[in-house]
Amino acid sequence: MNKQINVFGTIYKINLKNTMVETSIDNDEEDEGACEIREKYINIFKGLKEASFSKTALHEIGHAICAEYNCDLDKDEKMYDTFMSGLYDTVMRNKLQYLFKE
Ligand SMILES: [Zn+2]
Repeated sequence: MNKQINVFGTIYKINLKNTMVETSIDNDEEDEGACEIREKYINIFKGLKEASFSKTALHEIGHAICAEYNCDLDKDEKMYDTFMSGLYDTVMRNKLQYLFKE
């Protein structure tokens, strides 16, 4: 994975973290992923297995997209997570990853 991602012209740094505590924004809880929209970075716990890693990365990138678009889709975290899980599952189930290759 790239160490940064361009979200509508705004660069978000991708930080791979060794522990879930380091992954959380304030290092005060355990998170698989986190998106800091003011500082423009995404943390992802690198101990996740491949499918969970991709799903978590997509979830956090989605938060960055919502922030850059001023979209409240992620205001309800539970509903947002269900939507993003559905998006991830649909991409994988239909083998649509090729759409993202150059
Ligand atoms: Zn979230």
